Amino acid sequence: MAMDSGVFTIAELVALGWPPTEIRRAQRAQRLISIGRGWVRTDAAHPDVVSAVMAGGALSCVGALSFHKQHRWPKIWIPSGYSDTHVRRSKHMKTTARPTGPFHWCQGYGRPLPVTAAVDSVAVAVGCAARCVTGEEWIAIVDSILNSTEITIPDLQADMGRVTQTVSRLFARCDARSQSGTESIARLRLISAGFSVEVQPSISRHEHADLAVGALLIECDGKLYHSDEASYRNDRRRDRMTLIDRWMTMRLTYDDVLYDWAGVLEDIRSVTRQDRHRIRRTDDPRRKHASPS
Ligand SMILES: [Zn+2]
Repeated sequence: MAMDSGVFTIAELVALGWPPTEIRRAQRAQRLISIGRGWVRTDAAHPDVVSAVMAGGALSCVGALSFHKQHRWPKIWIPSGYSDTHVRRSKHMKTTARPTGPFHWCQGYGRPLPVTAAVDSVAVAVGCAARCVTGEEWIAIVDSILNSTEITIPDLQADMGRVTQTVSRLFARCDARSQSGTESIARLRLISAGFSVEVQPSISRHEHADLAVGALLIECDGKLYHSDEASYRNDRRRDRMTLIDRWMTMRLTYDDVLYDWAGVLEDIRSVTRQDRHRIRRTDDPRRKHASPS
């Protein structure tokens, strides 16, 4: 139950141990405000959750995942570009107010699941998201859940509603070792481009890089632009260490992977091309600055 949303069914409050007389007293005192049959909210209720319930559903999909990210699991990855309030509509709930702001109705595969709480669980939200976000984004979301929460694929499959073949195939491409959305998407795109990709290759007894393609290590930064001083120094130490072992390192940002993939792929192809093998061509203008002429 998403306690922090501030929106509850009366049944949820009773299950939490609130005596019905206490609930009625709180309603009279306006500490709990009725927002439709069987639903109440507190003063501090999350506005997106209130609008979802008043529109006749639950906050779901990317909206519910963002909610869980904010309140419990900060490392769940949320793709950008989904700012609408994603609501999973209930057949049994009445609309008490028109949706405010940009809304998106979503529903998972199979028979609609009942709405019993104002915010969908991670599993139900993931089931809805399978029909809203791209396959690549969905895998990156699930990778982040597997990597940063105690939730497993069987947990998700048990509670998300119908698991279609398409969704099963997406699950098969997920990887719990992924450390960031950028890494997940880079991995999927490299595999699609025909590369054999090693995930979290060892670079020392206790350290791993994000990805490797042949002798090229690929390190993916998270969405946050700034890295702190310690990790800045650590990145450079790793680059020196791996260079000694004849690895090359390419560092990719979120924007590189999301918005300049063609350019990145071209660079990776140039580096990994079999016939390249460190032939230093002084006629290549990009190399001139590196040659001690
Ligand atoms: Zn959605």
